[in-house]
Amino acid sequence: MEKVVLLIGGNLADREALLKEAVLELGRQFEIIKLSGIYETAAWGGKSSGDYLNMAVLFSTDKPAEEVLDIVLAIENQLGRERDIKWGNRTMDIDIIYFGDQVIDTERLNVPHPMMSGRKFVLIPLAEILPDFVHPKLKVTNQELLEKCPDVSEVKYFSASLF
Ligand code: AMP
Repeated sequence: MEKVVLLIGGNLADREALLKEAVLELGRQFEIIKLSGIYETAAWGGKSSGDYLNMAVLFSTDKPAEEVLDIVLAIENQLGRERDIKWGNRTMDIDIIYFGDQVIDTERLNVPHPMMSGRKFVLIPLAEILPDFVHPKLKVTNQELLEKCPDVSEVKYFSASLF
């Protein structure tokens, strides 16, 4: 079994309801261990309009990483994500942040997620649920990554965990 961390979120429609649906779907496929609170962040990249809600999900699975990716992409599609604009609006984006201690670099998958260490909206929920977990490539904890993160965007605490 591997412990897996996802960052899930979106900036369209009923953002909280969509997070709840995504967690329910994930719970059908995996054994959920912990959920972070929900955080609100202004959209990245210029083309998006509404603010994002994001949260981290920790679960365990005996499925391989590529299969987990297929499952999360199916959940994204099911929740109606539009994929046509890079950095654009999206109802549900699901990223694999960690897959245990594995370092994966294939055409389809980069784990740990390469952008995570520069983004507070990832590191804040991550440090909430797993402050002492050591990043398998950078060899520092999530809490240290957060403390050293140069990202100046404001990430607001929105609400406690959904369930
Ligand atoms: P995005 O637009 O960021 O959601 O990119 C989606 C694509 O990124 C997927 O089809 C994956 O093949 C690829 N990808 C690479 N690494 C990851 C990761 N750690 N988590 C999720 N998707 C990934």
